Amino acid sequence: MYTGIGASAGIGIGSVVIVKKPSLAYENVLVADVAAEKSRFQEALAKCIAKTEAMAEDMKSRVGEKEAEILEGHVLLLMDPEMSGQIESNIENEKMCAEAAVELTCDTFAQLFASLDDEMFQQRATDVCDIKTRLLKILLDVEDVDLANVPAGTILVAEDLTPSMTAGIKPENVAGVLTEIGGKTSHSAILARALEIPAVLSIAGIVGKVENGQKVILDGETGEVFLSPDEELLAEYTAKREAYLAEKAALAAFIGKESATADGKVVELCSNIGKPEDALKVVECDGEGIGLFRTEFLFMDRPAVPTEDEQFEAYKKVATTLEGKPVIIRTLDIGGDKEIPYLGLGKEENPFLGFRAIRLCLQREDLYRPQLKALLRASAYGDIRIMIPMITCVHEFRAVKGMLEELKAELDAESVPYNKDIKVGIMVETPAASLMTDVFAKEADFFSIGTNDLTQYTMAVDRGNPDVAYLYSTYNPAVLRSIERVIRAGKAEGTMVGMCGEAAADPLLTPLLLSFGLDEFSVSATSILATRKTISLWTMEEADAVAAKAMSLATEEEVHEYLKSVAKK
Ligand code: PEP
Ligand code: MG
Repeated sequence: MYTGIGASAGIGIGSVVIVKKPSLAYENVLVADVAAEKSRFQEALAKCIAKTEAMAEDMKSRVGEKEAEILEGHVLLLMDPEMSGQIESNIENEKMCAEAAVELTCDTFAQLFASLDDEMFQQRATDVCDIKTRLLKILLDVEDVDLANVPAGTILVAEDLTPSMTAGIKPENVAGVLTEIGGKTSHSAILARALEIPAVLSIAGIVGKVENGQKVILDGETGEVFLSPDEELLAEYTAKREAYLAEKAALAAFIGKESATADGKVVELCSNIGKPEDALKVVECDGEGIGLFRTEFLFMDRPAVPTEDEQFEAYKKVATTLEGKPVIIRTLDIGGDKEIPYLGLGKEENPFLGFRAIRLCLQREDLYRPQLKALLRASAYGDIRIMIPMITCVHEFRAVKGMLEELKAELDAESVPYNKDIKVGIMVETPAASLMTDVFAKEADFFSIGTNDLTQYTMAVDRGNPDVAYLYSTYNPAVLRSIERVIRAGKAEGTMVGMCGEAAADPLLTPLLLSFGLDEFSVSATSILATRKTISLWTMEEADAVAAKAMSLATEEEVHEYLKSVAKK
């Protein structure tokens, strides 16, 4: 068995077709007629642009607009006068043949992009290589690999699957994809997911380990790959595949549906994200908004604080991707288990109880004000709402509101647009906030219950310590009482109450949350449809009965067992 990166979910069972790159060898001779060589290149360039545009069009109609954007990006690169100018000057000044000039110029651009420490530029390097191959094929009159005509049940095995190769694929014939390079966010992964083809990427040397026609099983979730499986394994994975497809087909029926109980009570079903790019997945999975954008990820894995402008662009991107749907953006929640080395924060005895989130931000206005200002500026581009983490006291919330008023005045003076009625809410994730929800409800525009931390703080149990993990459970009656209290107190004041902790996606808790009156569930993108389905299985009467019984129980075990016994599938 081999293990790679599971990049597109599903079980693929089929026979190998190895996709080898065609030979693009050419005779590297100096040219005598420079003008003729330049026009040979111009002709090839025009053909290449037309071909790529046609591929983008085809991709748009067969797969989707977002996927076509990759190829549209190639068209822009091809039209870039800097690149084509460089190729022509290599022909003119160095007397290179068009092939050599294309190769040298594209390699130089690709190396430049690859050397930049940024995933987007790394991807741009792959794009340039893809363009180089396409231009060389036209110049050398080499036929493309014909992926459109592979037999049904094909497992494509390639070093990499470039967008131009993928464009021709007929998903009904391709049971899976295996490659030697690429990761979860590479274009091949994005396209495989868009085409719903199971894919495992980044298995070193896989092309040399298989033969054409060999049977293969791959699991796009776990990244496992089995070569020449025996009958038993085949039967096991055929059953897994059928179960996966049946479940997926059933969930697809929930795309475009309202998130409503069986008797018609409508709730909002949003999603949690960590990076601006994740917003697209939320739209694809039919999320009704973003319930939590964990902005601390913008601050991690980099050498310095992102500037106000960088943050503005990130927030704006999410707002525009969601096209007017609500986008709740949480301000910086660092400290605890989330470290940012360049901030130089000292080690603490009890980091979860220490200098984190809003406590830190209120003392580090140099960090906080640019974030709040970027959020206000981005609010002109969608329905952005600001959420404050780790609130324990009302004065913390008032301090943020005060800061926001000052920043609004600055923006007015600068004539910069923003949403004057921007909603500002709090995460309820500490027992203090939970006990004070009736007071907070009068000042905050919304609540979102952070059950991950609320469980930790209510139970006085470190959420990452395995020795006390048995205490870390949202089914604990103390935690459930806290959740019920927050929802009911919020409702009594007409404050919108959501939940963005992991418990929002727990099907066992759905009837309780519905019964308490939760307005908004925010779950990971891949849990959206499953959560919509669970919600649809309950009537409010049934949910109320389950909640009443569950809340009468004394222990975590009793609650958990009871909820399992009444769960609906
Ligand atoms: C939570 O605490 O429930 C939450 C959603 O925030 P995080 O997991 O980022 O602490
Ligand atoms: Mg939290």
